[in-house]
Amino acid sequence: MDKVDVVVIGAGVVGLAIAQKFSLHHKQVLIIDKNEQVGQETSSRNSEVIHGGIYYPQDSLKAQLCVRGKSLLYEHCQQYNVPFKKVGKCIVAITQQEQSQLNDILIKAKNNGVLDLETLSGGQLKTLEPNLHAHSGLLSPSTGIINSHEYMQSLLWQAEENDGFFVGNSEFIHAEKKQSGFSLTIKNNQDNTHSQIHCDILINAAGLNAQQCAQNIEGVHLESIPTLYYCRGHYFTYQGRSPFQHLIYPVPEKNTTGLGIHSTLDLAGQIKFGPDVQYINEVDYQFPANDHGKLKAQFVQAIRRYWPQINPEKLQAGYTGIRPKLQSSQQAFKDFAIYDESQHGVAGLVNLFGIESPGLTSSLAIAERVYLNVCH
Ligand SMILES: Cc1cc2nc3c(=O)[nH]c(=O)nc-3n(C[C@H](O)[C@H](O)[C@H](O)COP(=O)(O)OP(=O)(O)OC[C@H]3O[C@@H](n4cnc5c(N)ncnc54)[C@H](O)[C@@H]3O)c2cc1C
Repeated sequence: MDKVDVVVIGAGVVGLAIAQKFSLHHKQVLIIDKNEQVGQETSSRNSEVIHGGIYYPQDSLKAQLCVRGKSLLYEHCQQYNVPFKKVGKCIVAITQQEQSQLNDILIKAKNNGVLDLETLSGGQLKTLEPNLHAHSGLLSPSTGIINSHEYMQSLLWQAEENDGFFVGNSEFIHAEKKQSGFSLTIKNNQDNTHSQIHCDILINAAGLNAQQCAQNIEGVHLESIPTLYYCRGHYFTYQGRSPFQHLIYPVPEKNTTGLGIHSTLDLAGQIKFGPDVQYINEVDYQFPANDHGKLKAQFVQAIRRYWPQINPEKLQAGYTGIRPKLQSSQQAFKDFAIYDESQHGVAGLVNLFGIESPGLTSSLAIAERVYLNVCH
């Protein structure tokens, strides 16, 4: 095969959702990934939380696409038997001083169209979560958890049902702009050979490599490519039964680079803590070798504020994920960047930058947006 309608670079949750969307509209889609399997980077290194859409600035893409994506995702899970659970989330003010932040969150949520938050007194929280130490809180009943691997498989399966196909070990190298469409050079990472394919539409959903890929697409205005910052988050797992039934989030850190050391559950009921926020210079998923003890001590200190009974011996290094951020540690909120011809100057191309959280929740809404961008 030397020609397809659409090539999607990157088989993470966003690339797969986009591929599924185009395939439903009778486009033949090829999804390529430099790794052997789908979803081996950020999409399998996150909290697997279906977010409510609460924290993001009004009218931002993160707010709009999270709220829309959440309802699309719940529908998708039901339709395709993807395991999920609406466990609900408690956002907690641990001290009275933090109470005012809950009020701010409530207003932000309403502005974003999230109308189901319930306020909780200290007493109500105790009934809901007897092991939780907090002054007051908010309950988000529509927050849930999902099996992200089965979700990605369901997207791939749907794309394949509609004539799409995935090829792993295939690294995007370069795109030459043709009179109509693109001629792509793709490297086979197993035998280092190169091949060419032509496509009419090109989608760059390469996550942590999206900026690098954009630089290798002929015609893209280089000034339209935003600076990328790697921001690692660490997770610690906890042995034994979870003390909580809900996801527990302390009020977020002031600049929203992270949501605080929160506690989440997976569908097997296993509890984990994190992620924290650590800017790094290169993609490195390892826990910091020298600072491991220091990091654990920081986690214990943060968790003790809302769960004083934690036994530090049961807390163990889990895994990490890296956020492709568009803001440095010193800068304020930056939104998802979904750029089309009007930003980068190339017809038939969409570049996706900075798809950090809530990218998993937003994936189906991002796909809708991308489809409209090139097929309106
Ligand atoms: C710590 C952490 C916690 C998070 N928690 C949540 C959460 O609870 N809920 C939520 O909604 N979101 C969460 N997110 C965000 C969510 O995980 C991401 O937004 C989402 O996974 C991004 O998907 P993606 O497809 O854009 O990127 P990726 O999953 O990174 O996929 C990009 C793919 O592109 C491939 N690629 C790169 N370069 C090339 C190339 N040259 N050629 C071919 N392929 C290439 C990569 O191999 C990769 O598979 C979290 C993120 C992090 C880091």
